[in-house]
Amino acid sequence: MTPKYQFERRYVGPIEAVIMDWAGTTVDFGSMAPICAFQRLFAEEGLPISEAEARGPMGTEKREHIRQLCAHPRIRDAWHEVKGEYPTEADIDRMYDDFVPLQIDAIAQTAELIPGLTDALEWMRANDIRIGGNTGYASTMIEGLLARAAEQGYTPDSNVCATEVPKGRPYPHMSLKNAMDLGVQHLCACVKIDDTLTGIEEGLNAGMWTIGVAVSGNEVGMSLEDWQVLSEAEQELRRAAAYQRMTASGAHYVIDSIADVIPCLEEISARLAVGEKP
Ligand SMILES: [Mg+2]
Repeated sequence: MTPKYQFERRYVGPIEAVIMDWAGTTVDFGSMAPICAFQRLFAEEGLPISEAEARGPMGTEKREHIRQLCAHPRIRDAWHEVKGEYPTEADIDRMYDDFVPLQIDAIAQTAELIPGLTDALEWMRANDIRIGGNTGYASTMIEGLLARAAEQGYTPDSNVCATEVPKGRPYPHMSLKNAMDLGVQHLCACVKIDDTLTGIEEGLNAGMWTIGVAVSGNEVGMSLEDWQVLSEAEQELRRAAAYQRMTASGAHYVIDSIADVIPCLEEISARLAVGEKP
């Protein structure tokens, strides 16, 4: 007789890989580079946009980001007022071409490692964890960034840009390509770390553990200098709102920045060691 039960297959083992976003997660505290570039781009069109508007679609591939900004109701109306028509697909293509040099310039100027990354990398290396990087930036934009990060001691074993896969975030393609490049066998033994909600979704869609960094990236959206001069009460207000959004997106853990990641990775290791799944 066939039994009325079955046993479940589960992974019990170490973390195989950590995949980290770039801007706002490992470099560029506050994810300032794209904001500077998007604001300059729209200002050059005669349509200044606010920092908050520029940040709206953050984490998505940059052509899509421009498309979403052009579809923003206020910007769309302002565009019509200034130019007498609504933005077209041709405008988006032209703006993307204009955007690339602005972005390359801004990225190279904001490539400083986020404090704490070096210790986190050391911990990962000591625990035989492979390291991947991925980004909504196009591959043509990040040569300078990779070089400047390497000078500071950060060279991921695999790096993937949104332009190298069929679909960017929140699709899981980038993290999956990282996993393939890194020779990962078990996606449930990978951790994705990101400063955007769409980047968290990417990791979840890939079947990975996810850690949101709330303060160093897009959710708080302030440079380290601006953050440090806020009062503790103001910091707490912004931190709490960012934690709330990231937790609601389904992140397994939310931390201030990469400086707090080691205890989190230790906890995930412990959970994997008893067979928990993401
Ligand atoms: Mg980011």
